Amino acid sequence: MFVSMSVTFFAAAFAERPLEAAAMPDPVSYTLRFPAPQTHYVEVEAVVPTGGHPEIELMMATWTPGSYMIREYARNLEGLSAATEAGAALPVAKTVKNRWRVTTRGAARAVVRYRVYAREMSVRTNFVDAGFALLNGAPTFLTLAGDGNRPHDVRVVLPSTWKTVVCPLPPPPGAAEGEGRFRAESFDALVDAPIYAGNPALYHFEVAGRPHLLVNEGEGGVWDGPRSATDVERIVREQAAFWRLVPYPRYVFFNLLVESGGGLEHRDSTVLMESRWATRRRKDYVDWLGLVSHELFHAWNVKRLRPAALGPFDYENEVYTRDLWIVEGLTSYYDSLFVHRAGLSTRGELLKALSKDIETLQTSPGREVQSLEDASFDAWIKYYRRDENFNNTGISYYTKGAVVGFLLDARIRRATNGRRSLDDALRLAYQRYSAERGFRSEEFRAALEEVAGGDLDPWLDRALSSTEELDYTEALGWYGLRFVESKGDEEDEDDGDNGDNGRNNGDAPRDALKETAGWLGMETEEREGRLFVKEVQRGTPAFDAGLNVEDEIVGLGDYRVTPDHWKDRLKTYRPGETVEILVARRDRLVRLPATFAAKPKVRWKLAVDPEATAEQKARLAEWLRASLKA
Ligand SMILES: [Zn+2]
Repeated sequence: MFVSMSVTFFAAAFAERPLEAAAMPDPVSYTLRFPAPQTHYVEVEAVVPTGGHPEIELMMATWTPGSYMIREYARNLEGLSAATEAGAALPVAKTVKNRWRVTTRGAARAVVRYRVYAREMSVRTNFVDAGFALLNGAPTFLTLAGDGNRPHDVRVVLPSTWKTVVCPLPPPPGAAEGEGRFRAESFDALVDAPIYAGNPALYHFEVAGRPHLLVNEGEGGVWDGPRSATDVERIVREQAAFWRLVPYPRYVFFNLLVESGGGLEHRDSTVLMESRWATRRRKDYVDWLGLVSHELFHAWNVKRLRPAALGPFDYENEVYTRDLWIVEGLTSYYDSLFVHRAGLSTRGELLKALSKDIETLQTSPGREVQSLEDASFDAWIKYYRRDENFNNTGISYYTKGAVVGFLLDARIRRATNGRRSLDDALRLAYQRYSAERGFRSEEFRAALEEVAGGDLDPWLDRALSSTEELDYTEALGWYGLRFVESKGDEEDEDDGDNGDNGRNNGDAPRDALKETAGWLGMETEEREGRLFVKEVQRGTPAFDAGLNVEDEIVGLGDYRVTPDHWKDRLKTYRPGETVEILVARRDRLVRLPATFAAKPKVRWKLAVDPEATAEQKARLAEWLRASLKA
C-alpha cells in the first residue's frame, strides 16, 4: 500500500532504459504541493529554462487528447507569478487566454508559481480533496510555447496523510523510484501520464514480462478488488495474445471508484471512473470490464496505431480527423468482444451489447443526416456538444463505428472464406503505421483491402462517407444470426416487476391492450414536480404535433396530467386517436392536437438463427473464440 511497493514493482521495467543523450535540452522542472487539499487546490512551481532569451512565452493546453472538446483549462489557474531563482520578481503579462509572457531580465531560469483549482470529477480534468488527487497533464502544466520537445520533470510532495503517488513515468536520472519524482521525455509524454496521489489499494501483475498495476481509489469495503484485478489481468492477456506484442514497458490502470463514469486512454495507462457498487451487479460489472478492455485496446489502437492528425498534438487548437471510426469505433467493436473472448461474459451478453449499438443507430434519425466520417470530423462541435437535437442530426462514431466494425469483420471473413479477418487487418496496419508518423485514411483502407484480397472501396464509401442504410444481410448470413424483436422498452419490462407479477403470465386481455397502446415518441423529464418535454425525435407524432423541448405538459384531453401518472395515462390511448395536449410554453397556454401512432417495433436484437447450418455455427464460434489457447 505504500510508495515502496511501486518502487520494486516498476524497477525492472525502468532498468533497461538507455543512457541519457549527451545534448539533452534543459528540463522544465515542476514541484506539486497540496498544502490544503480539502480546498481543492494544487500548487505548482515550475522552474523554466529561459535559453537566455529576454522574454519567454508560457502556454497551457486548451484540450486534452482523447477528448475532443476545447475545455479552456486556463480558467482554473490563478495567482501566477514569476521570479528569478534568487527570488527577484519578474514581470508577467497575459497575452491570450492561455498564454503568459515572462520578462527574464537575463535570468537563466524563471521560477513560475501558480495554483490550479481542481474539483471537476472526470477523467480529463483535475480533482483534489482531502482524500486523494487525480491530476491530468493538460489541465495542470504550463510549458514553453512551441518548445515542448525537452524533458519535463515532476516532483510530487504529498500531504502527510497520503502514502502513495503513482504515475506511469520513470524517475529522472539520479532519482530512485518511490521518491515521488518522474521524468517525461517531452511535453507530449507529460500530458499522456496522469498522476494519482492518495491511499489506494494496489494490485500488481505481470503479462509478457511487463509489470501492470491496478490502482483502486475508493474501494470502500464494497468494490471487490481482488476479483477486479484477476479479471483485468485476463483481459490484458487476451489482448496481448491478439496483438502478439505488448508495446509499453509498464501499464497503470487508475481506477477511481468515485460514483462517476468514463475512461480516457493514455500511452502507458488509463484513467477509469466507476461506481464502487459495480462489482455487486453483473451488468454493471460486465460494463466496467468493457471499459477496461476499451481503454487498454487504445494502448495499441490510437496511442500507437493512429491517424496522422492524432499526434504530435497542437494543444491549443482543434485537430481534425475523419478516422475516429477506426480508433474509437473499432475499439468499441472489440471492447466487449475481448471481454467475451477472455471468458468474462456470455455469448448472450456479447450479442446484447452489439444489438444495443445496432438498435441505437437504426432508431436515430441522425443516421440519415450525418455520415460516419463527418461525425468524426465534427466531433468537436457535435458529439462533444450534444444538445436536445443531436439524435435528429448526428450519430455517434463510437456506435456506428462499432457496427461498421462488425460488418467489416464479417465481410473480410466472407471474402477470404474465413481465412482472414479484421483482426489480421488491424495487426497489419499496426506493423506498418504504429511508428512515429501515423496513417492516412487511404493507407488504412489499403491494409484492409490487402487482407480482404479485393476492392473494398464501394463498400467503405457507403459505410463511411454516405448516409445510406447499412446492409446486415451478409454478416447475419455468415454467422447464422438473425434479428428478432426485442421484448420492448425498459418501461414495459419494469411493469412486470411492479406489483402484479402474479397476473401477468397469460393475462391476454391486458397484454392486448398494451400492444395497441398509443405512442407519441418524445422524452419527458420531471423537474420540481412538473413535467417537461426533454427531446422530440423527428418523424414522431410529438414532432408532427409541434411539441417543443421545454414545453411544460399540463393537460391531456380535458384532464390535468402530473408527472406521476403521465406514462400510465398515455397507455389509455390507441393508435389513430387524436387528443389535445395542453402545454405551457414560456407561461402561455398552448393547445396542440396530437394523433397517436403505434410504437415502431424494435427488431434489432441479434439471436442465433435456429436454422443455422453447422458451417454457420462453426464460423460464429470461430469469431467468438479466444486468442489464447486455454
Ligand atoms: Zn475510446
